[in-house]
Amino acid sequence: MSNLTGTVYRSTGSWYDVKDIHGKDWRARARGVFKVEGITSTNPIAVGDEVVLEPEPGQEEVAQIIDILPRQNYISRQSPSHRKQHHIVASNLHQSLLVATIKNPRTSTGFIDRFLIAAEAYHVPAVLAVNKADTWSKKEEEIFAAWQGIYEPLGYAMLATSAATGQGLPQLKAMLAGKTTLISGHSGVGKSSLLNALMPGFSLRTKEVSQWSGKGMHTTTFAQMFDLPEGGHVIDTPGMREFGIVHMERAELSHYFPEMRNLIHQCQFNNCQHLEEPGCAIKAALEAGQINANRYLGYLSVFDSLPQNHWE
Ligand code: GDP
Ligand code: ZN
Repeated sequence: MSNLTGTVYRSTGSWYDVKDIHGKDWRARARGVFKVEGITSTNPIAVGDEVVLEPEPGQEEVAQIIDILPRQNYISRQSPSHRKQHHIVASNLHQSLLVATIKNPRTSTGFIDRFLIAAEAYHVPAVLAVNKADTWSKKEEEIFAAWQGIYEPLGYAMLATSAATGQGLPQLKAMLAGKTTLISGHSGVGKSSLLNALMPGFSLRTKEVSQWSGKGMHTTTFAQMFDLPEGGHVIDTPGMREFGIVHMERAELSHYFPEMRNLIHQCQFNNCQHLEEPGCAIKAALEAGQINANRYLGYLSVFDSLPQNHWE
């Protein structure tokens, strides 16, 4: 049987679930050691990867992965056990969806901003769904409108959704159709509920998984890709709070703020960090109300958390 290409749907350590171009499922193992793009990664093959399969002679639906095709993009996070290594969470993404909530639980705008910065750094377009809209009173409606006023002008589409009533789900479906979307967000915001609403049959899977994923089993930490009925895929990353802002220097940070990007070259100093320097175009825009004060505070907070620039 000749080799064929497929897409990785799930990685559970040494075995991978791969769907080939004809729609057939394979269990596959990596042959040899892959070093992709010269990076040290704890998992060389990630969900979303396009791979070359060599079927195992005499074994039904079992194959070896003999090559990984070049990635369009990928997102990674720091390995929990080795600080210097990173862990590729998913690759070949069209976009990333953050599911947030205004209450029960409350997603902070600081968290939303960190998500958006990471998405910008990985060149993965970001979209936002603010879920549990059915529980909102006037106060939450106002917060949602304020968030929309901040994020939509920056190019991030933001929907109000409810997995409970179906509000916003046609728009969410349209947003996801035909694309590969990574879903993230705090636990409890309704990611599984939204996936259930979007994919008939998905509830079966969540039930199965929760039954056999007893204490101490790490089944829920693996990213997994699902097919959407309208075409396209979603990648669920249970247990992953956020994908990290890894390998970022302070000097880069303002490039990942769409409202700052075009102003940076107008600062008096070309190494301006937009803190207290004279002639700073970012501070001027902030004072003129062209940059949202909360977003600027988000900039400062992430700036403080990053290591110093290599020349400092
Ligand atoms: P996940 O951890 O992000 O996957 O969140 P779940 O889908 O498990 O949902 C967490 C809780 O919120 C569950 O009790 C859901 O029933 C509830 N929930 C999810 N979406 C909604 C929603 O749109 N409205 C309301 N009222 N509750 C929701
Ligand atoms: Zn500046």
